[in-house]
Amino acid sequence: MSELAYPYEAPASQALFDRAAAVTPGGVNSPVRAFRAVGGTPRFMVSGTGPYLTDADGREYVDLVCSWGPMILGHAHPEMIAAVQEAVARGTSFGTPAEGEVALAEAMVERVAPLEEVRLVSSGTEATMSAIRLARGFTRRTKVIKFAGCYHGHVDSLLAAAGSGVATFALPDTPGVTGAQASDTIVLPYNDLEAVHAAFAAHPGEIACVITEASPGNMGVVPPLPGFNQGLKDACAANGALFVSDEVMTGFRTSRAGWYGVEGVVPDLMTFGKVMGGGFPAAAFGGRADVMAHLAPAGPVYQAGTLSGNPVATAAGLAQLRLLDDAAYETVDAVSARIQSLVTEALAKEGVAHTVQTASNMFSVFFTDRPVRNYEDAKAQESFRFTAFFHSLLSNGVYLPPSSFESWFVSTAHDERAVQRIADALPAAARAAAEATA
Ligand code: PLP
Repeated sequence: MSELAYPYEAPASQALFDRAAAVTPGGVNSPVRAFRAVGGTPRFMVSGTGPYLTDADGREYVDLVCSWGPMILGHAHPEMIAAVQEAVARGTSFGTPAEGEVALAEAMVERVAPLEEVRLVSSGTEATMSAIRLARGFTRRTKVIKFAGCYHGHVDSLLAAAGSGVATFALPDTPGVTGAQASDTIVLPYNDLEAVHAAFAAHPGEIACVITEASPGNMGVVPPLPGFNQGLKDACAANGALFVSDEVMTGFRTSRAGWYGVEGVVPDLMTFGKVMGGGFPAAAFGGRADVMAHLAPAGPVYQAGTLSGNPVATAAGLAQLRLLDDAAYETVDAVSARIQSLVTEALAKEGVAHTVQTASNMFSVFFTDRPVRNYEDAKAQESFRFTAFFHSLLSNGVYLPPSSFESWFVSTAHDERAVQRIADALPAAARAAAEATA
């Protein structure tokens, strides 16, 4: 690409990226951070305050990534800092049970009705991996249905057609994953109940569970059509399989009770991460008590973790959940709606075909004028327009997810000044998107 494509380079970030590339594959610890889909220099951030991030070159950005969801109160919220400092001062890991993990589990169970019991882990990947193992152990079946474009972490058997970073890089789905693992995964088009019924009919007595993002955000935001999640639940119940709802992204973000709180469909198992960890590595899986009873040490399905229920992570998670009252969700929903309409207005003015899709306060912009119902639709958008749009916004101090297959995230800290920065930056970005060529 020409130099002109990235008018504001970032020399300090570039120097760090070069250093990183010498010791870390691709220079990053999670692929999408490398900016490969959009090109240019990944920004190395040094600090975050409220809705802003500051990079190594001293430039400030309005953050519309929020650490891919967790920072729903913005960065360095004073009460979060206080809770974490208090916990750190008492010791960082005990390797024993501790009250904080009980309190976090209680707070989750209180908010999400189908969550009768919960087991804490350290990442969303661990949560979905463990939920799948438990579903297989409980049903004594092997096969798993997942949907194209849904990402459930980098679990071997769930990487097929996984959206998110896998989509961004157009990687083959399963290098390093054995044929057996891949063949136990049935990948179906999202929002297609007929395909689900056909898969159950083709594999009688073999399907342990259906796993789905409660409302997908990893192919961009593609909410379930009315009745889809309930249809999954009913198909599972009719066929002796478990319905696993992955709320790692939506949990405690799309409402106080996550996507369950929006739609009310009762899963057998659920997975969580992101918001519940308050920016620390904490995640969880849980659900029906009779299913969870199969988990060690109560039952035979093994699962463990040195840092599971870590006292600092649980203190952060609990503090964040306690701060997330009804008013907080109203604030996040309102600022999300504001930004959505600003984006629509700017793109419409330039005549750029686009569709903004939402799942409560999660949203993303597809560069197509057709509704996006599944992964095929998402891939059909004009992603080259996103690249131009992204770089124009970045140059003007707005940090978007560096891929057109991701949700945008806002926080309670996105105030009038932050929204105005976005409003000021959008006209040029919309023009850049209009002028972009494939
Ligand atoms: N499930 C969903 C729906 C996710 O969005 C993610 C991560 O983005 C994961 C699972 C994996 O979580 P983690 O990155 O913490 O392993």
